[in-house]
Amino acid sequence: MEAYPKSHLKAAIMLTCVMALIVFTLPAHQNGDLSEHPVSLDLTPVPAAEALPVSVTETESLSLPSTSWKEVTVEAGDNLALLFKRNGLRAADLQNILSLGEPVKALQKILPGQTLGFQTTSNGRLIAVSYKKNAFDTLLIQREGEKFHADWQSATPEKIIAYASAEITRERPSLYHAGKGAGLSDNVIMKLANIFQWDISFALDLREGDHFSFMYEEIYVDGELVKEGDIVAATFRNMGKKHEAVRYTDITGRSDYYTPDGMSMRKAFIRDPVHFTHISSSFNPNRLHPIHKRVMPHRGIDYAARKGTPVVASGDGKVTIRRQNDASGKYVVIQHGEQYTTKYLHLSAFANDIKPGANVNQGQTIGYVGSTGWATAPHLHYEFLVNGVHRNPKTVKLPKALPIATDELQRFKTSISPVLAQLYSISGSGYASRGAAENSTGGE
Ligand SMILES: [Zn+2]
Repeated sequence: MEAYPKSHLKAAIMLTCVMALIVFTLPAHQNGDLSEHPVSLDLTPVPAAEALPVSVTETESLSLPSTSWKEVTVEAGDNLALLFKRNGLRAADLQNILSLGEPVKALQKILPGQTLGFQTTSNGRLIAVSYKKNAFDTLLIQREGEKFHADWQSATPEKIIAYASAEITRERPSLYHAGKGAGLSDNVIMKLANIFQWDISFALDLREGDHFSFMYEEIYVDGELVKEGDIVAATFRNMGKKHEAVRYTDITGRSDYYTPDGMSMRKAFIRDPVHFTHISSSFNPNRLHPIHKRVMPHRGIDYAARKGTPVVASGDGKVTIRRQNDASGKYVVIQHGEQYTTKYLHLSAFANDIKPGANVNQGQTIGYVGSTGWATAPHLHYEFLVNGVHRNPKTVKLPKALPIATDELQRFKTSISPVLAQLYSISGSGYASRGAAENSTGGE
């Protein structure tokens, strides 16, 4: 909705792309080939690099001075038979094509918005059909006499490392707004939030001046941005504390995020049991205190959100209580191991499978925000207890995150050091201050 200036970000991205191309091993770059064979001006919906070897029989070739491609977009309610009919194509050809079986099975599930191409002779004889299933995969069906032949072609995606950076300001006080201001997609903003969800409360703890920088993959096909890939490395300065994460694929092929020292970003508890995108922006944490103060000491954290917003378990554990009373309304208590307990109050409803004894996973929905019990407005009242004592989850000492296996640490450091060097150089956060990364970049 709001148009934000992108200012010099684009330039930074371009510059970074060039640098990143040097740093990262990327799939073969095919644009060079393509540019020597510019896309012809007809409506050929097939990748330009694929010269169409239209196979026709000898007799046909005489009657085929010209063929043309017509591209159609699938609309709601369309199926192949309808498309053939609408475009004046023979049902018999459709039958022949469908008789190819497995290779053309995808044609039975065409979706609105996808495109099909039909190549016909000037007298309407079908020569070829193309079906662009997605940005990467195209099905090409070509006539061979009275029969057809089907081939799937995959475009080679090209990965580019892009860079983004933004600051939390008075005008853009949330991660979402700051991200949008930097031209980021919802998808990338969520990925960034997921990486730091154990360390930063995006719902409550963002402050003016907080700053983040990160590198992420952009996937291109034929020079067009198809989608964003993973975040490669990120740094987030929140309330004066710097958090860093880098993506690493271990020897078993599993990818996850780690600190530069090799500690997993994953921890026993996430900070917000309500997703930050649901938090009421005008929320003032003190607003709800008076009512609590009258009835009991306020020992929790309040998240104001619309009624019905999902509430998730902040850590793996077991439900010990699912109950309703006058003060707390509908509430859930979860036990996490021996020491830790979390409580979720004022729910409008419980999630289906939440009952005493049920095991829950971190991030699993356990109920929905409401205002049952002593609450003036819909909000989640969240409590965190250690050995039965109320604690502030922000300051309490929590179980340590798991480190990279010792025998893999060297591989880890070798793998991440060029990425970190890149991140620090673009975020200006002082590469030299990172001892661990510096040591392992001897060949820089
Ligand atoms: Zn409260």
